[in-house]
Amino acid sequence: MRYAMAIDTKKCVGCSDCVIACQTENNVPIGYARDWIVELTEGSYPNLSLEIRSERCNHCDNTPCVRTCPTGASHIIEGGIVKVTHSECIGCGACIQSCPYDARYTHPDGYVDKCTFCDHRVANGQDPACVSVCPTKCMYFGDMDDSNSEVAKIVANRKWKSLAPEAGTLPQIFYLV
Ligand code: SF4
Ligand code: SF4
Ligand code: SF4
Repeated sequence: MRYAMAIDTKKCVGCSDCVIACQTENNVPIGYARDWIVELTEGSYPNLSLEIRSERCNHCDNTPCVRTCPTGASHIIEGGIVKVTHSECIGCGACIQSCPYDARYTHPDGYVDKCTFCDHRVANGQDPACVSVCPTKCMYFGDMDDSNSEVAKIVANRKWKSLAPEAGTLPQIFYLV
């Protein structure tokens, strides 16, 4: 079992429904976010292209955030999901410093928080909140180890990129391009 997500940059319209769904589902405080929208313009006029994508923790296979955590609060659970045990976090920020994606924030209550792949929903057979509300259905979540899963099939059949591959973190979010 290896949970992963594919996000179709050709279908994302940047509506932010995923951001609002995440904030509501996970009680993310106002002014903070576990996921966010990036809009990138590439090329030069008149050959410009716009890429819109929804970003979050990449639930990497190689995790500097877990290695640098002095208390073990940052850890990996079944399926490769990277989590933070809030009660064990001392808010030192070592994980924030080591993440190449700026995927973590310090909660006003003093602990670090980030995307959990909505493991509480996944355990009940539901999709993550962000995936479930996307009006263009541009996100695919599932088990990459199962070659019949929707996410494994679309990653096998489409061109994709991961973010900052040079960081060597082996991200498990695949951006379809
Ligand atoms: Fe850790 Fe950052 Fe990778 Fe998430 S994206 S697993 S916080 S290094
Ligand atoms: Fe670990 Fe918390 Fe420090 Fe991050 S801020 S490294 S989760 S103790
Ligand atoms: Fe937020 Fe869940 Fe989506 Fe992660 S998987 S960005 S926690 S809604």
